[in-house]
Amino acid sequence: MGIALTAARLMTKTKKNMAIPESKAGWLSYYFGDYGRHLLAIISTALLVVMACSLHGNVALVSVLIYKSFNLPWPMPIQDLLNINITQDEPSSNVSKPITDMNDDDGQILPDYLQFCKEYGMKDWLLHVAYGAGSSFLMYHVVCGYLQWQYYYKQCNEPHKWKCQPNKFLTPSNERHEIIVGTLNILFSGSISGTMSCWIGNGNYSTVYFRLDEYGYTYLIISIPAVFLYIEASAYYYHRMAHLPFLYKLIHKHHHRYHSPTAYSAVAMSPIEIILFMVFFLVPLFTVPVHAWVFTGNLLYINYFGMLDHSGVKLDSWIPWQPNSMYHDNHHRYFHCNFGFNTTLFDRLHDTLRRTDREYGEDIFYGKGKPTKKQ
Ligand SMILES: [Zn+2]
Ligand SMILES: [Zn+2]
Repeated sequence: MGIALTAARLMTKTKKNMAIPESKAGWLSYYFGDYGRHLLAIISTALLVVMACSLHGNVALVSVLIYKSFNLPWPMPIQDLLNINITQDEPSSNVSKPITDMNDDDGQILPDYLQFCKEYGMKDWLLHVAYGAGSSFLMYHVVCGYLQWQYYYKQCNEPHKWKCQPNKFLTPSNERHEIIVGTLNILFSGSISGTMSCWIGNGNYSTVYFRLDEYGYTYLIISIPAVFLYIEASAYYYHRMAHLPFLYKLIHKHHHRYHSPTAYSAVAMSPIEIILFMVFFLVPLFTVPVHAWVFTGNLLYINYFGMLDHSGVKLDSWIPWQPNSMYHDNHHRYFHCNFGFNTTLFDRLHDTLRRTDREYGEDIFYGKGKPTKKQ
């Protein structure tokens, strides 16, 4: 996990007082010279990105898309091993019969489940769900727990060096709340992701394609920013709508009880919002031809920054259009402004970017703030 932290530090230019010590990459520099640090940064960022993909419970979906793009079956041969080993004893015969051969009249849950899966093209659905929910649960706690330990525990005495809001921390009850709600949501979204991976893994309808040149390379390249902009636009407009007084008080306020968020807050919200965000994310898979890697890349990118943006740790972005972590932290601090996530484009377009000459608060709605009293 030390590698993951180093990645976060190397690939995101942290504030001056958080410069990485040379000794961190000492042995790599010894063997690879200056390339050692780059190598470490690339490997550890890749690790962190893969772990971060779990934050919206998308491990299963990402896995199946990658597997299918290499023309491999999913979920690997585990399913065959299970089908061979699970048997039912026949009283009239010494030969055990594979469970897949049992008929519906047995009145047993498992055969009914198998029949259901067969009818709806959802073979091994439970296996997908178990994988999606279990792996997402594990990754969520590993990544968030690590960030928590590294910053909130180890550097708790010097928050001014790393924290977006150095004078503000979550109360213990809010911390417990975000971990419990976040865990339930990650299990829920991991199960949805598992169901999606089962649907696509079994070759059911979707518009995702796996051969790079299937729609031509021009289409492939254009689809990268197109998917990104679609997800950002849908997230922005939904988010802005969720900040209308009625919807805010009814649904979105749950996410805003964390005034100085941590990585755990990223998925600590109403389950209704979890479903909506998943629907927005998944729409391209069923509406327009999208290459598996284009979709997966966008998903990983969004989830990775979703985690960093909620971490409460001051991190500058190394991608030109990606705002730093202060941007979303300020959304939690000032409530009704900075509605975007991975670019400030839509906030600029609608004049909802936070301004220093405006006053904001939980009861000042509509994204524009109000002129400060001095004016
Ligand atoms: Zn919000
Ligand atoms: Zn948030």
